[in-house]
Amino acid sequence: MSVITRFAPSPTGYLNIGGARTALFNYLFARHHQGQYLLRIEDTDKQRSTEEAVDAIIDGLSWLGLKGDAAPVFQSAQIDRHSQVATELLNAGNAYRCYLSDQELNALRDAARAEGKPVRSPWRDKTSGPADTPFVVRLKMPDDGETTIEDLVQGPVTVKHQQLDDLVLVRSDGTPTYMLAVVVDDHDMGVTHILRGDDHLNNAFRQQKIYEALGWNIPVFGHIPLIHGPDGAKLSKRHGALGVEAYRDMGYLPDAICNYLSRLGWSHGDDEIFSMDDAISWFDGSAIGKAPARFDFDKLAAVNGQWMREADPHLLAEMLLDKYQSEKSISENATDILVGLMPHLTERAKTLDELLNAITYLVHDGAPEIEDAAQALLDDTAKSRLLDFASDLPNAPLDIDGFKSFFQEWLGAKELKMKDMGLPLRAAITGTKQSPSILDIIVILGPEQVVQRIQEVCN
Ligand code: GLU
Repeated sequence: MSVITRFAPSPTGYLNIGGARTALFNYLFARHHQGQYLLRIEDTDKQRSTEEAVDAIIDGLSWLGLKGDAAPVFQSAQIDRHSQVATELLNAGNAYRCYLSDQELNALRDAARAEGKPVRSPWRDKTSGPADTPFVVRLKMPDDGETTIEDLVQGPVTVKHQQLDDLVLVRSDGTPTYMLAVVVDDHDMGVTHILRGDDHLNNAFRQQKIYEALGWNIPVFGHIPLIHGPDGAKLSKRHGALGVEAYRDMGYLPDAICNYLSRLGWSHGDDEIFSMDDAISWFDGSAIGKAPARFDFDKLAAVNGQWMREADPHLLAEMLLDKYQSEKSISENATDILVGLMPHLTERAKTLDELLNAITYLVHDGAPEIEDAAQALLDDTAKSRLLDFASDLPNAPLDIDGFKSFFQEWLGAKELKMKDMGLPLRAAITGTKQSPSILDIIVILGPEQVVQRIQEVCN
């Protein structure tokens, strides 16, 4: 059987971490089975849906690499089809027009609840009703028996039909309900597996009844527990539950986010850091946890740091330069310089943004801006030693080991210690008192650039 999954967000806000995880699980499951992963925008609630939210969701998904294998389906464009299916259900006698007023319905519901019974309208078995009176279309739920869902995550879950009201398929203004629209769209898109938040578990029983009434294949459901904060409470902004774009803006890597999210409620042994390809080969729908996963912002940052250390330095350099903003022109060699120093830069960093301040002296040619504390190190003695060093630098070997030996010999010849030169060199070349190893920086910047800086700063 070929597998088709989908992610079906309602565009009422940005793509949050929970939505991104749902999308990811559907993506991984589809890829694992060489199937298709589709996107449907559930925008029938015109009051709450916005175009900005649609854009934010699509942008966020694209950034994570979870865009969908076909153009997104917009639920609002399918309304005629939803109505047509409602008519089929009416014609087949599986649904009926219910003319109850709100008041009558409330009274009926109160009475039904008092008896522990589901709402059954007196219109259920009538074939015609009053003209010019608004009606809703309801599905006839069975009175006896029960429905069991073999949920991929929750296992078998059963509900007695006595707990299911005759559900509304079409509202009195003629618009199809969410419950009907979801079933029709999933069927029409050929969806075979639905992984979604467990807040939809109760809908699944009702949706299953719609499938049955239509004689359609019922997809496999998997209801994933919602994500909680590290303290076990419902996830909120306080826990770092931001939109995906906020993580992009803070300098997180999409692969790191996907890696971390895949571990929220799913596991593959003790593996913590792995590629999407690994996740795809492992994600067969088993091993999704029944207990709510806890979102831990610090853990995410640590995973991101690890990804940065393992990422292709060219890619990181490009991402950094993309984010870096400056009025000053960027050196032609900026990418090479960043790539050369990347292992040092990423040693302790958790996000790209943490690196942005640290690269200023690497990406512009000429003397850096010098911080006060660094300036204090550049007295006359230091300056004359630096100029002396600059005049000998063009003779130095260009590889790090060769340069280190050269530098030691140079210090010996001048009867100087590392401490006499290290800090002044760092001050003049980087403008700061802290940086990765200054010898590495000198080698990567190259003699011409280093000499230029020393001369600009010391003359
Ligand atoms: N549009 C629904 C939501 O955003 C999801 C519906 C579904 O996955 O069946 O919660």
